[in-house]
Amino acid sequence: MQPLVFPSFADVAAAAERIDGHAHRTPVFTSRTIDAEIGAQVFFKCENLQRTGSFKFRGAFNALAKFDPQQRKAGVVAFSSGNHAQGIALAASLLNIPATIVMPYDAPAAKVAATQEYGARVVFYDRYTEDREQIGRSMAQEHGMTLIPSYDHPDVLAGQGTAAKELHESVGELDALFVGLGGGGMLSGTTLATRELAPKCRLYGVEPEAGNDGQRSFKTGSIVHIDTPDTIADGAQTQHLGNYTFPIIRDGVNDILTVSDAQLIAAMKFFAQRMKMVVEPTGCLGLAAIRQVKEQLKGQRVGVIVTGGNIDVEKYVELLKR
Ligand SMILES: *Cc1c(COP(=O)(O)O)cnc(C)c1O
Repeated sequence: MQPLVFPSFADVAAAAERIDGHAHRTPVFTSRTIDAEIGAQVFFKCENLQRTGSFKFRGAFNALAKFDPQQRKAGVVAFSSGNHAQGIALAASLLNIPATIVMPYDAPAAKVAATQEYGARVVFYDRYTEDREQIGRSMAQEHGMTLIPSYDHPDVLAGQGTAAKELHESVGELDALFVGLGGGGMLSGTTLATRELAPKCRLYGVEPEAGNDGQRSFKTGSIVHIDTPDTIADGAQTQHLGNYTFPIIRDGVNDILTVSDAQLIAAMKFFAQRMKMVVEPTGCLGLAAIRQVKEQLKGQRVGVIVTGGNIDVEKYVELLKR
């Protein structure tokens, strides 16, 4: 096996140039209510307002913008029923690259429709009998397409790091930064940006309690695999960190915290009521975490990356009523 070549801050900076003019430079919002509650100054980087509704567009666009002419012609394949699918679909259509997304038959109709509306071809598989990675890989092999995974890829994670780069550049020195964690594309990219631009800033990954593989991996020093966790944070239902993302996280993150689904719902309600924002459960990981550890944040400047806002309206209403 060839040794992995890890990306560095230079790759995040290059990604920022590539996505400039294509991805939104998302706003940073504050709330006096949350500042009073936490006893700190809190800065929310709002990736729920990114194109396609999550930060995934950053990494997708960066990866596809680096394709050579042959790769562009053959196209991209991705397997995802969530935000990565929409990020790839829009990035591919902007760059005139054909995209195929492999999704389970029982994926929410709204997500299938959104992906198709961005111009991607959707291929279905049976999640109980078929292996989507296998399907993605064999399609890539047969048709010369390039497979772009949702987190474990140098160009994807470098692209995700551009959100933290923007945050550090726009708000100045932070004492602590909280980032939702699934497979670690966002957190590893954020690590590269933060260790370069704000070396003294403490950095925390936040996982759903039911899926604490990242926390266990961080503690034990090797990648822990788990079954698909049962949580409303569907963007963090990953089973393990990646070969690229884990070493970067292990070496550069201060700690990994977990929060419950009930804490995520409380955070969703806060965003809706106080900040007039629709944030999906996974996007609430950071806010839920700062509420949990507020005693350690008194008087500090704290960043939170609000990672996404895609949720079915019916589901959203149901969760807010709980
Ligand atoms: C994908 C995703 C995450 C987790 O990102 P990773 O790079 O897999 O760690 C968090 N929040 C939202 C909204 C996402 O779409």
